[in-house]
Amino acid sequence: MPQILANVFHSAGGNRLQAVDIVFDEQIIDIHPIHQASLEWRDITDFAGLENIRLRLFANRVHPKSHSVIDGGGLLVMPGGIDAHVHFNTPGFEQREDFEHGSLAAAHGGVTTVIDMPCTSLPPVTSVSNLETKLAALRGRSHIDFALWGGVRGNDFTDPVTVREQIDKMAGVVGFKAYLTSGMDSFADLTPDQMLLVARWLRESGLPLAVHAEDKKLVASRQQFYQLHARRDWRAYCMSRDAEAEAEAIKTMISVAQKSGARIHIVHLSSADGLNLVRQAQDSGLQFTAETCPHYLYFTQHDFENPAISAYLKTAPPVKFAEDRTALWRGLSEDALAFVTTDHAGCDPQREKTGDNFWEIYGGIPGVQHRAPFLISEGFMKGRLTLEQTIRLLSSNVADYFRLSGKGSLFPGKDADFTLVNLWESEQAQAKNLLSKGRYTPFEGLKLDATIEQTWLRGRKIMDRSDPSVLADPGYGRFIRRSG
Ligand SMILES: [Zn+2]
Repeated sequence: MPQILANVFHSAGGNRLQAVDIVFDEQIIDIHPIHQASLEWRDITDFAGLENIRLRLFANRVHPKSHSVIDGGGLLVMPGGIDAHVHFNTPGFEQREDFEHGSLAAAHGGVTTVIDMPCTSLPPVTSVSNLETKLAALRGRSHIDFALWGGVRGNDFTDPVTVREQIDKMAGVVGFKAYLTSGMDSFADLTPDQMLLVARWLRESGLPLAVHAEDKKLVASRQQFYQLHARRDWRAYCMSRDAEAEAEAIKTMISVAQKSGARIHIVHLSSADGLNLVRQAQDSGLQFTAETCPHYLYFTQHDFENPAISAYLKTAPPVKFAEDRTALWRGLSEDALAFVTTDHAGCDPQREKTGDNFWEIYGGIPGVQHRAPFLISEGFMKGRLTLEQTIRLLSSNVADYFRLSGKGSLFPGKDADFTLVNLWESEQAQAKNLLSKGRYTPFEGLKLDATIEQTWLRGRKIMDRSDPSVLADPGYGRFIRRSG
């Protein structure tokens, strides 16, 4: 039986909202406006405004008996979130995070599709047979839909012909990830020359090459210098991975883009200098994109001085300074950044987020559950982004970029993936409410001015904030291939 999600608001462009009913089964069948005129967010910002609207628009409505009706009660409906950068670690480093926990946390954060990274699986997703191993390991393990990154690592370059063959044959991945600096023995970085080779191979297929952009020579030489001087503090770590290291690596990738014509994507951009280079590359006509993450949009290195979160905040690259943070928000609002990801990477904080040697503390934040409420609260609610931009950065832009044709928008024919958001409710970010395997967050105590109330995936409710018994089985999530 088709269902109707009745009495919800969806984005009508800018900061406008329109009251609609959504008719759906596994896919969206139709969207009916309840009222032709749309509303400005500022007119209904307060709860009294919402109550008036509820009375005016939503009271005494009648729906066909042939449909089961879910009353959305004036919540915002947005297309299910897509997080294009997560490390859910199955199979492999599952003592830190696994797909069941990661995907459950994602559903609670309004995310219906993730794109999982290739480098934190064992084996890494670097060949057809490793991809098959990964897909077999994921059977019955994901609450939400997932796509996969393939990977290219230095370890395999003793035999470049085979690397190329495997890249060509790994059908179904949405792109390839590589590092200019990697700390992982199981996934070594590429030299700029190897990066160029890979970009040339990818040009034809049109698949993007995503790059961790920090310059290896700069990072390694500084790290060596500070360690020789017995420095083991956060400042030394941050100085070894500064904005210059990011900018140098991005320059390398711009040259790769110029020579190859391939689509290049910079993951977790952290600095104003890096952003300026990305803009220049775009202005010169290159297919050059970047993403950033909530931690770069909220914290600065000043926050490492807080011992309660210092270890939790460690990532590579590290967060930078206030002017970088401001520039990144501007990059989002001016469409210079393609989307917001989390680089979700968790661990057991008791085991790996302790000790006084900052070099050895595990780097990673399990952020997938906070991404949508964070961007709605800090972006849209604070006037840095429009509602329309916020939704594009969380979902539509990601679906477009990776050609996930069933995802990313509320149109008839698309998968019925959506999340219901209460814009009139707030909640504190708290580690104890996280569903990731490792429960810690540098965002502890941050007031998020939006709550994720329900998440629906292909027509089925998989999360309800007020009803913990709603749970899709962790086999409901499907592998999503890039279309065309
Ligand atoms: Zn990552």
